[in-house]
Amino acid sequence: MKKLLVVALALVMVVAIFACEKAPAPEPAPVGDGGDTIVAPVTISTIEAIKERGVLRAGVKDSVVPFGFVGEKERELVGFDVDICRYIAKKLKVKVKFTAVTSANRIQMLTDGQVDILAATMTHKIERDEVIDFSITYFMDGQKLLVPKDSEIASIDDLAGLKVGSVKGSTSEKNVKEAQPDCEVISFEGYPEAFLALKQGKVVAMTTDSVILVGLMGSDDNPEDWKIVGDFFSSEPYGLGLPNNDSEWRDFVNFTLMEMWRNGEWKKIYDKWLGEDTKYYMPLSWEIELWP
Ligand code: GLU
Repeated sequence: MKKLLVVALALVMVVAIFACEKAPAPEPAPVGDGGDTIVAPVTISTIEAIKERGVLRAGVKDSVVPFGFVGEKERELVGFDVDICRYIAKKLKVKVKFTAVTSANRIQMLTDGQVDILAATMTHKIERDEVIDFSITYFMDGQKLLVPKDSEIASIDDLAGLKVGSVKGSTSEKNVKEAQPDCEVISFEGYPEAFLALKQGKVVAMTTDSVILVGLMGSDDNPEDWKIVGDFFSSEPYGLGLPNNDSEWRDFVNFTLMEMWRNGEWKKIYDKWLGEDTKYYMPLSWEIELWP
């Protein structure tokens, strides 16, 4: 009897194991096939990802004084854009990790998901907005020319037939060609390289946003050797670059910028880098967009 029971039990177990192995896989839920159940891909918003990681990954310039550059004393990235990111990270209660970007690679860095935000002297252009999103304008500028002190070039009109230096991937290289189709634009990797070409006489002028020219001149060993000339020939509203279609993150960034303006932090950062007591003084002549 005992033997019979053992055999019966063994048989039941074998059948059970077999049944388990052969159990049909659950039917996959229909995805967008017109059925009732639509399974959306699981996406995690940028803000959740930052909080989970505990780190805000920010793309900034590393050689654009005074927006993003390596401080002599600090031996780390400092500047207006860097401070804006630090404030956003503080508000999120996370650390911040900076990655150097160039004018040519910054948008790709964001779309590849290598950074969560770009604070990189970047003009909000409709063309760029087709690929990424932007915050409200957090800095306002326009394009001018930098020339040697004794240069006779006084405006964009005087650049006809001459070589002018700018930077790859910037609005500056395009704007100057549009404003003066008869000049030859030579584009460099970064602004220090364009400035070096000007010093070496390879170009007769260099051009970009006036604040970047102020930064180059102010941080030069001999600022008095240079002058910024002409009227603005472009409009350069800077926006923070943000991943496309993530309104939660974009709202957070916009609300933070407005908070910074209202609580005086923005002005504090402005004065630190561009105020009267700095080498890069630029009187403030505009206001951030403030939503009531
Ligand atoms: N603001 C301009 C731009 O976004 C020029 C400065 C830069 O190259 O970052 O292209």
